[in-house]
Amino acid sequence: MSDTIAAPLTVFGAVLDGESVGMRCENGRIAALGPGVEPGPGEEAIDAAGALLVPPLLNGHTHAAMTLFRGWGGDLPLMRWLREVIWPVEAKLVPEDVYWGTRLACAEMIRTGTTRFWDMYWHPEATARAARDSGLRATVGGPLFDAGATMPAMQETTLSSLEELAEFGPEVGPTLAPHAIYTVSEELLRWAAELAAERELPVQIHLSETEREVSDCLEQHGLRPAAYLDRLGMLGSRTVLAHGVWLDQAELELIAERGCTVVANPVANMKLAVGGVLPYPAARRAGIAIGLGTDGAGSNDSLDLLADLKVFALAQRQAAGDPTVLPAEEAWRIATGAQAPLLTSASPHAHQVRGGMTPKRDALGVGEPADFLLLRAGTPELSLGDLHSNLVYAASGSVVDTTVVAGRVLMRGGEVPGLDEIVARAVERANRLGIG
Ligand SMILES: [Zn+2]
Repeated sequence: MSDTIAAPLTVFGAVLDGESVGMRCENGRIAALGPGVEPGPGEEAIDAAGALLVPPLLNGHTHAAMTLFRGWGGDLPLMRWLREVIWPVEAKLVPEDVYWGTRLACAEMIRTGTTRFWDMYWHPEATARAARDSGLRATVGGPLFDAGATMPAMQETTLSSLEELAEFGPEVGPTLAPHAIYTVSEELLRWAAELAAERELPVQIHLSETEREVSDCLEQHGLRPAAYLDRLGMLGSRTVLAHGVWLDQAELELIAERGCTVVANPVANMKLAVGGVLPYPAARRAGIAIGLGTDGAGSNDSLDLLADLKVFALAQRQAAGDPTVLPAEEAWRIATGAQAPLLTSASPHAHQVRGGMTPKRDALGVGEPADFLLLRAGTPELSLGDLHSNLVYAASGSVVDTTVVAGRVLMRGGEVPGLDEIVARAVERANRLGIG
């Protein structure tokens, strides 16, 4: 799908910041945007008929193929769920399982307005293929995990998958993905940090998801998790830290100084009852770039980022005991990736990438990628009141009518082409794994 450059596309009659506008997309980018922009004769056009034009959402941390595990063993405690349900089935996964699980995830993301995701999962080349075939942008890595696997085997798998992932660009790119400090040896973490620095690759890792992770790290290394990763050279402007629930003030300052990005996963945190949420107000004061993620469908179980945005905002207000702690417009910007330049960077592996929190310029502007959503303006959730407040607290992914990536229409009128086949194939794969 992404091998061909999309034909010019013009959207007209859309509403942006209260004004009726047209937008012309050429070669995957926004070529013109404003009140007078109209389609030329015979050109592909969308009559938006008053729909709201907004930037798309960005899922900063997920394991897309885990849609296959949705609703399976979710009432077990974390370690029993992993040991008894997830790990035995994951041992049987083949690339086609990951491919169809990811296609299912991509269909769900397209329907609910997410156009880019950061993924960590087995058989990453199958994830990359599914993202490309779905038309989404993705940054993809296979987990480094040397509990049970030997380190040289893990290194070899990683190097060969990096080679395969390099073939998918520009919309699908590679990342290193050491799973967590408690599943990856110190030696392998150091190796990953050095490889990331040498090849200028992004790195994503789960960090400080549970309090136990912190106490174990203190016991084993005499350091809190962020300081431990820093000692191994893992914290830099291309580093994405997922969760960050149990970070203390000194860790937040260290993470800010290194220019890392932190991705909050509030729904997965609540489902697994980890006892807290990312300390957002302190993270923002420290100047950390923040994104929002769903985590895998095995522990959420939805990939509807708008639903998670509401939970994120509510959890922050509740934790702070302060309803002014996260204004709706700021929350919305977090969900679009606008508060985390690395997550939206066209080539996060390029050396000019900006870490830290410097907000990105407006995502909908001439010269920017032609990625956008049209939202149903007449839907009850959006028909009156403040748009940002409605997007955060009233809407769900069902308000998305049209999803466009790089000028290609992936959904129009709420219909994702080929959805029935994708669902059928994913069910087939889950049945094969004995979890259908
Ligand atoms: Zn995760």
